[in-house]
Amino acid sequence: MPQRALRDDDVLIDIAFAGICHSDIHQVREEWGSAIFPMVPGHEIAGTVREVGPAVTAVNVGDRVGVGCMVDSCGECEFCKDGFEQHCQRGAVMTYNGTGYDGEPTRGGYARSVVVGERFVCPIPEGISLDEAAPLLCAGITTYSPLRRWGVKAGDKVGVIGMGGLGHMGVKLAVAMGAEVTVMSRSLSKREDSLAMGATDHISTADEQALRTHRSSFDFILNTVSADLDLETYLKLLKPRGVLVNVGLPTQRYAIRPGMLVGHSKVVAGSNIGGIPETKEMLAFCAEHGIGATIETISADEVTEAYGKVVNGDVRYRYVIDVSTITAD
Ligand code: NAP
Ligand code: ZN
Repeated sequence: MPQRALRDDDVLIDIAFAGICHSDIHQVREEWGSAIFPMVPGHEIAGTVREVGPAVTAVNVGDRVGVGCMVDSCGECEFCKDGFEQHCQRGAVMTYNGTGYDGEPTRGGYARSVVVGERFVCPIPEGISLDEAAPLLCAGITTYSPLRRWGVKAGDKVGVIGMGGLGHMGVKLAVAMGAEVTVMSRSLSKREDSLAMGATDHISTADEQALRTHRSSFDFILNTVSADLDLETYLKLLKPRGVLVNVGLPTQRYAIRPGMLVGHSKVVAGSNIGGIPETKEMLAFCAEHGIGATIETISADEVTEAYGKVVNGDVRYRYVIDVSTITAD
């Protein structure tokens, strides 16, 4: 697919690594509705600036940078002005499977290079390698943002459902914020990893006794599961006034009886990635706390196999494509 010629405020990035997010799979498989093909997926992009347009001031040639889920927004509405470009009233332009304001389809990070307006290019701090940084641009910000919005702090008890790409980042970030973190996974197979990442407990959601021991105990639960889930099971684990934030995006409705929320004034909320200022804040937080994604690096010809493994929950914990293995541009 051709790339647009550099505009004044554009940055041309030589991509080094692109993470595989479960959202890539949802879109490639059209689980969210019809998609735009041909598609170049990828919204966890890390690389180096090759060229900048004449009006670019924020980055220089040679800088290490990342690009996440968005590549444009109106920049003028109240949400853009407040740094919530993902809620832009004109509609944020998604990194791929989207249409730019020029009417052209966007193309993502499973490629050797990408052209992005400088507002959506985030410098990657020293100390985070490009491969471990790539997943921060989606999995990192998507878990950081709700933890911050709902004020998770030292001593809070946090539950993370689903130990995948988002889930493992949620664990690392909540631990770094001082929370006591319990992972809720379908089995105990990832238990050692959870504990190594700083979680204090890891339980199997198939173990009803283990779930019972956590009843009414969490201040905050982050649901990262990509498939349908009985949310009431987890609402029971919240303390009164506790908050369950859903970031997973399966397509079925959740069934929740109103009494499950009203009885103890509980909150169920959603959260969509995060804006650019918060993404930069998250990258600084990760650098300060020595946090990167835990990754498995693959070549381009392993992507299809990797998709199957991600769907089976068999990834430790994010596949990252070494895009130097992509031969076509
Ligand atoms: P992922 O790596 O596949 O992780 C999802 C985890 O959910 C799996 O590791 C697995 O954890 C658990 N899981 C999978 N199938 C399950 C099932 N049938 N029942 C119960 N648990 C199951 O996916 P991801 O990249 O982290 O993305 C997770 C979801 O978030 C996707 O739906 C994605 O589209 C969405 N997402 C949302 C945003 C946003 O802005 N809100 C951003 C990015 C992604 P265990 O093996 O530990 O059980
Ligand atoms: Zn994503």
